[in-house]
Amino acid sequence: MNSEMQMQSAQNNLQSSRMSDSDALYHWLNTPFYDLAAAADRCRKQKIPGNRVSYTMFRIINYTDICAIECSFCSFMHPVDSDKGCTLTIDEILAKVREAYDLDFKQIFFQGGVNPKIPFEYYTNALTSIKREFPDVHIRAFSPVEILSLSRCTHRPVEAILSDLIEAGLDSFPGAGAEILSTRMRNILSVKKTTPDEWYDVMKTALRLGLKASTNIVWGSSESDEEIIEHLSLIRKLQDETGNILSFVPWTFQQQTNRFQVRHVPVHEYLKMISLSRLYLDNIDHIEVSLLVKGKQTGELALLCGADDINSPVFEENVLRSYGLKSEKECIDFITNAGFEPVRRSLNFDYGKKS
Ligand code: SF4
Repeated sequence: MNSEMQMQSAQNNLQSSRMSDSDALYHWLNTPFYDLAAAADRCRKQKIPGNRVSYTMFRIINYTDICAIECSFCSFMHPVDSDKGCTLTIDEILAKVREAYDLDFKQIFFQGGVNPKIPFEYYTNALTSIKREFPDVHIRAFSPVEILSLSRCTHRPVEAILSDLIEAGLDSFPGAGAEILSTRMRNILSVKKTTPDEWYDVMKTALRLGLKASTNIVWGSSESDEEIIEHLSLIRKLQDETGNILSFVPWTFQQQTNRFQVRHVPVHEYLKMISLSRLYLDNIDHIEVSLLVKGKQTGELALLCGADDINSPVFEENVLRSYGLKSEKECIDFITNAGFEPVRRSLNFDYGKKS
């Protein structure tokens, strides 16, 4: 196809059928940001009734800051053989849940490094203990790399590990640790991290077991434009095969270490990613804007570029330095001032649910 035909085809697909990978790449590289944003805004209005923008509230509990994966961009972890770092006891975990619960944060995002010294029983005990004391708390927990490590350490299949965790109280699953799903970038991020195929297979198993999940992209390093589209294509395929992905969140890398090259992602590129995600990921209902990373002004613009959810007040965030919203009132004010109707949701996108 010559470039004129490609442009015509790509522009037609802004308005109609499912966007192909080549059209997505074309738009990412060539379509003016405001054209993509306008098309994405129209798409959001068709998909999300009314003028609704949602938010939710949850507490992150990092149960261990010891990690064997050693991602080059991460300053959070301590190596397994280090004398630094700690793993929370079950009582410490419960105290953190209680603290959040009393502040109306009834959703827990339970995540840690990959610490092969922690026995599998710790994970099931943590979940059952939280559920015993706080039956109405929603637990979103772990990531594909943690699950894969548990599978390897216990010599049991991923499906068996996930089934046991679900029985113990796991309610939903974050599609964390995806960053950029290309083999070349995985080798730069960490040679020990899940390969794209491993990440995909764990996610597919979790989603097929009925867990709902969010997914994301983290870019702003040395990834190529083709690798960005390759990543989006895997996410769309995963959703075609499972149907349980609730949302997609574009994040950008933050400079945390000097072992990993981070570039500045300009505002228009971030907004272009929001718009392209809305248009290309036609099978995922919700696109979240991350105020944690990009701040309020960019967040407000993102709501006009296809996003319908803000990445919500988080109580305690160790992995990322944030300038997000700190309270429910700040959320409501932010969404209202941006010209939208604020609606509280659960992690599983039940609207109006106070959890
Ligand atoms: S990003 Fe996660 S998996 Fe990678 S080193 Fe940090 S804690 Fe470990």
